[in-house]
Amino acid sequence: MEDRVQEAMLNLVIANRILDQENICDAFGHVSVRHPLDQEKYIMARSRAPGVIEIDDLMEFHLDGRPVDLRDRTVYAERHIHGGVYEARPDVTSVVHSHSHSVIPFGVTDVKLQPVFHMGATVGHEVPVWDIRDNFGDTSLLVSNMDQGRDLAFFLGDRRASLMRGHGAVVVGKTIKEAVLIAVFLEHNARITMQCLQLGTPNFLSAGEVSLCKDQFVGDLAIDRAWDYWSLRAGFKS
Ligand code: MN
Repeated sequence: MEDRVQEAMLNLVIANRILDQENICDAFGHVSVRHPLDQEKYIMARSRAPGVIEIDDLMEFHLDGRPVDLRDRTVYAERHIHGGVYEARPDVTSVVHSHSHSVIPFGVTDVKLQPVFHMGATVGHEVPVWDIRDNFGDTSLLVSNMDQGRDLAFFLGDRRASLMRGHGAVVVGKTIKEAVLIAVFLEHNARITMQCLQLGTPNFLSAGEVSLCKDQFVGDLAIDRAWDYWSLRAGFKS
């Protein structure tokens, strides 16, 4: 196997374990990576909890969600989130979907989720709320077909993250490491904001501050340091 594919697959396993260890995913949620040798495919685990994913669980998918080789496996119902984003966003190499708990309140109230501390700025200026009901009426809230995945991707636009009303969030990155970092700090920013709201009115970062923070903290220095730390916590020595 090509080195680039092997490296992507190893990082994808580590990403799964980090998202579990850092309480971004529990039994549910998933992370994918665009295939390093084929823009029209992505790699993602079969339907298992992220905390137990091993390299043999990884599978290739076409962007429309068809598995390249099903091998009698069960696949994630919500893989269309990933395909929808990869279709719409050539700049995206990795997608995380989670139900991390602290983001949920911001999807179902009129309180906007915006950066309240410097690392929180990695989510970008705003995190809008996609509502599956707007275009699809009453559903199970799962993104279970490509129409829904494309609708979510269109709503996401060029942003780094979107909440999903009554469900969770989607986070994208230029790399697996970036997507994981943003997903972690999306959760931390939400949790800290809720703590702030119990005390008073948060003094959010200004638009200028967000602009200065949002790229610096997804730079190599910050990313490598965070990945190194989270990998070890998840049981991987780098
Ligand atoms: Mn979900």
